Amino acid sequence: MHTHILPKSMPNWTEKFGYGKFIHLEPNSDGSANMMQGGNFFRRIVENCWDAPLRIKEYEQNQTQVQVVCTIPVMFSYWAAPKDCAELSRFLNDHIAELVQRYPKNYLGLGTIPMQDQEEAIQELERIESMGLLGIQIGSNINDKNLSEAEFFPIFEACSRLGLAVMVHPWQMMGFDSMQKYWLPWLVGMPAETSRAACSMIFGGILERLPELRVCFSHAGGSFLPTLGRIEHGFNCRPDLVAVDNAINPRHYLGKFWVDSITHDIDALKYILNLQGSKRVCLGSDYPFPLGDLEIGKFIEASDLPKAEIEDIFGNAALEWLGLRKEDFL
Ligand SMILES: [Zn+2]
Repeated sequence: MHTHILPKSMPNWTEKFGYGKFIHLEPNSDGSANMMQGGNFFRRIVENCWDAPLRIKEYEQNQTQVQVVCTIPVMFSYWAAPKDCAELSRFLNDHIAELVQRYPKNYLGLGTIPMQDQEEAIQELERIESMGLLGIQIGSNINDKNLSEAEFFPIFEACSRLGLAVMVHPWQMMGFDSMQKYWLPWLVGMPAETSRAACSMIFGGILERLPELRVCFSHAGGSFLPTLGRIEHGFNCRPDLVAVDNAINPRHYLGKFWVDSITHDIDALKYILNLQGSKRVCLGSDYPFPLGDLEIGKFIEASDLPKAEIEDIFGNAALEWLGLRKEDFL
C-alpha cells in the first residue's frame, strides 16, 4: 500500500478554471513529463508514474503483486473552489477506478475528495464507494485546519458508514517557507505533519467516536509513535490543554489504527511493531518516489523478525485495513 499514480495526461485546470496553481503535465522528448504548478516547474516524473504495465513489472522485480494506488498529494487542491476541486477529484478517481477494473489482481484504489466542502466531499465518497475504490487518501491538514475540526467529522462519519478506509498523507508541510534548505520540509516537516494529524484525530475524539473507521497514517505514523512518550506525558501533566475533547489516554489507541512500514530502519520498525502489533503495520513503498522504500520491504525480509509477523506486514495488515481477503488475489 501507499504508492502514487497519475493519469498520463490531464486537462490544464489553471486555464480551464481561470485561476490558481493547479497541476498539469507537460511531456518531454525523452518520455518523461514535467509536473507544472500553474506556470511553474514542480517536479519531473517518469513513465512509472503513469504506465500501469510497467509498474506491475517493476513491482514483480520486488516480488510484490498488488499496489494500493492513490494520487500525489499536490493534486488534492483543497484551496480551490469546491466545485472545481470536485471536478478534478472525479477525473482522478475515474482514472483509478478504470485501472482497478482493468487489473483487479494488481491494483487497488484510494480516491481523493474535496475536503474543503462537506457536501461535495460526501457526494464524491458515495461515488468512490460505488466505483469499487476501497477508501480515500487525505492530507494531514486541510488548508491549515486540523482534522479535529468539527466540519470534517461528517466526512469521517460517511467513510465509516460506507466502509471506506482512510489514508492520511503529509502535505503542505508546516514551516515549509522557513526551512527550504536541506530538503527539510520532507525530512522534518512531513513526520511532524503526520503526528499533527494523528494527535488531532485522537485528541479530537474521532477515533473514539468512530471505532469502525479504518485509518492508516503514512510513513509509519511520522513522528507520532517515536514521540508517544512525550505526547502521553503531556496528556497526563496538562489535561487542561490536551484532554479537552477526549479524556482517554492516547496510548489506548495503539493498534486501533494502521501505519505503513516506511521507516528505512529495522530498529525503528521493531519499535513500531512493538506498539502497534504486526496486524497494524502494512508494507508501504511510496513508489515511485526516491524517498520511498523502492526495494519494497527488502530490509524487512532480510531481518530476524518472525515469519508470521513478516507475513502480516506483507499482506494481512493491509487486507484487514481495506476489508479484503487474501483469496481475492490468488
Ligand atoms: Zn507518499
